[in-house]
Amino acid sequence: MHRGVFYVLKQLDAIVSGDIGCYTLGALAPLDAMDTCMNMGASLSMAHGMAKIFSEEEKKRLVAVIGDSTFYHSGVPALIDILYNGGQTVTIILDNHTTAMTGHQEHPGTGRTIKGEPAPVIELESLARGLGIKHVQRIDPYDLLAAWRTIDEALHRREPSVIIADAPCVLKEKRRFGELVSVDHTKCTECFACTELGCPAIEVRDGHIEINKLLCIACTHCQQVCATCNAGIDIPQVLELVHQKRYADAFKVLLRANPFPAVAGRVCPHPCDHEVNALGWPQEKLYAERYPDLVREFSTPGHPAKLSVRDVERFLGDYGIEHFSGAEFAPAEERPERIAIIGAGPAGLSAAFYLRRRGFRVTVFEAFEKPGGMMRYGIPAFRLNKEILDREIDRLYMMGIEIKCNVTIGRDVSFAELQREYDAVVIAVGDSAPQELELEGTSDVQEGLLYGVDFLRRVNRGQSVKVGRRVAVIGGGNTAIDCARSAKRLGADVTVYYRRTAQEMPAIRDEIDEAILEGVQFEFQTNPIRVLARERRVCGLELIRMKPGPLDKDGRRRPVPVPNSEFSVPIDTVILAIGERADLDFLKETGVRFAQKIHTTFTGAASQPGIFACGDVAFGYGTVTQSIATGRRVASAVTTYLRQKGAKR
Ligand code: SF4
Ligand code: SF4
Repeated sequence: MHRGVFYVLKQLDAIVSGDIGCYTLGALAPLDAMDTCMNMGASLSMAHGMAKIFSEEEKKRLVAVIGDSTFYHSGVPALIDILYNGGQTVTIILDNHTTAMTGHQEHPGTGRTIKGEPAPVIELESLARGLGIKHVQRIDPYDLLAAWRTIDEALHRREPSVIIADAPCVLKEKRRFGELVSVDHTKCTECFACTELGCPAIEVRDGHIEINKLLCIACTHCQQVCATCNAGIDIPQVLELVHQKRYADAFKVLLRANPFPAVAGRVCPHPCDHEVNALGWPQEKLYAERYPDLVREFSTPGHPAKLSVRDVERFLGDYGIEHFSGAEFAPAEERPERIAIIGAGPAGLSAAFYLRRRGFRVTVFEAFEKPGGMMRYGIPAFRLNKEILDREIDRLYMMGIEIKCNVTIGRDVSFAELQREYDAVVIAVGDSAPQELELEGTSDVQEGLLYGVDFLRRVNRGQSVKVGRRVAVIGGGNTAIDCARSAKRLGADVTVYYRRTAQEMPAIRDEIDEAILEGVQFEFQTNPIRVLARERRVCGLELIRMKPGPLDKDGRRRPVPVPNSEFSVPIDTVILAIGERADLDFLKETGVRFAQKIHTTFTGAASQPGIFACGDVAFGYGTVTQSIATGRRVASAVTTYLRQKGAKR
């Protein structure tokens, strides 16, 4: 039952003075929610002492936690002390109705003596009120939002409070709450936000979240935490803060998971707007019930009763640009370790942001002339205004992150040099090279044949690209759709040819819909077989119809050609957008294991100590926001690695 309280204390960024009991485990990762720990009621007196020297801002984050049994035998005098000396500390009594740590003995609140004989119940709430505490509240630690509201409200009061987190110890009661939970892998974004609970039933197997049914007690904590967000943002807390019009606080909560909310609020495929989350929780209905005001202000276009979480994020991202320079997020203390990051795309910059916040000295090496990676060179300007991107990247400069552009690792600086000069190296080069397609007729062509990533890069750099009147785009992913929409803006008639069905197209649904509205044509279940050229210039494309064939290893039906269905179309430019790959030549002979991707653990640790990787080059999720999540994850892995290395020294 204590897990919920510590999760909420972490959400609130509370400064927690703890005592000794089973709940002291809240000090450990991933909860990490206890800052000091003493015994015998000293959590209260320590908190009271801290309040004497803390700033007003710090005082608003100060909480003492104590178990019910310890409170009875030694917390009461400390609470009297707080009251008597004009303190304002929030005291949370973790009331699990037993003395759990020493083996479930009785105590003055259980109604039994230590020998099991009937005894008067000394009730905690009456006891606190009897001492003179006016603000005494009871919370259900399994209701995270209600607990958040109660603790947050107490932290803003100018008087001492006692909050009783009331739920029996599950080990004693051998309790199971309801239906067991399972993960819907079609919805899970692998943001790992649920793992922040530290629940032993939540396991990561082969990089995927699974619920261990032998350990799950169906408490619903994970269901409440999951928001099916690509970046792992704490959306329940963000919505509550926006509802309370505490925009600066909400923006800071966003930044804990995503350093680029204004970008994400424009380009993310927003799985957060699912009706039901990956753990079966009806999030859309709950948001609508809790926040009719937000639904009115941020409704989904065409669905007035549905909240658009992405629009809330976009609003806050823009708010952050206007109200924060970035210097506010610079670390209070510098650490001596230096970290090199290769690649200034969403994953690399995200890793830089979270490492810098922890005080590390971070240098990012970028091969192109400006930072941003796929946010700058992959996503067209009509989807993302690059000024927004620049303003969000400015925050990183203001935090003291160094970004060196026009530096290619392996050409200007060797990988070995980075290993020598930095305490850790993070590889985040992204999939920036095109996947080549073996297509008859392409080897002779000199004009009219382009790869999708190259085409988008040229358009995004403002270079002139002539595509002619008729453009064929081959592929079904986001790059293909961005190419089609960009070519349309260059005045061409554009057709996208995709070998599978419309339902199987992996591109973001909203973007496909926009492309259709803009007049892009789609030919599904169609594959190119030959590029036709005249005088080495593309003049047409020969294609063949496809149909679903036998199942492949992923359980999908592999498309196969329909016999005698070949046909030709006149075309001026063919854009091949069938996928991207990373250029990892600089890793040859370094000992870092890679094939198409760099081999890493799910946290991003590569095969060599001190080398890490994140983003598409390691995980291949392919969206800006999921890449951001991997950057944050790798920052935690680097921090753990450097701490352990420092401890050994
Ligand atoms: S989407 Fe939900 S279930 Fe999946 S990792 Fe994130 S919080 Fe966990
Ligand atoms: S990052 Fe994406 S999934 Fe997460 S809140 Fe923003 S739009 Fe939704």
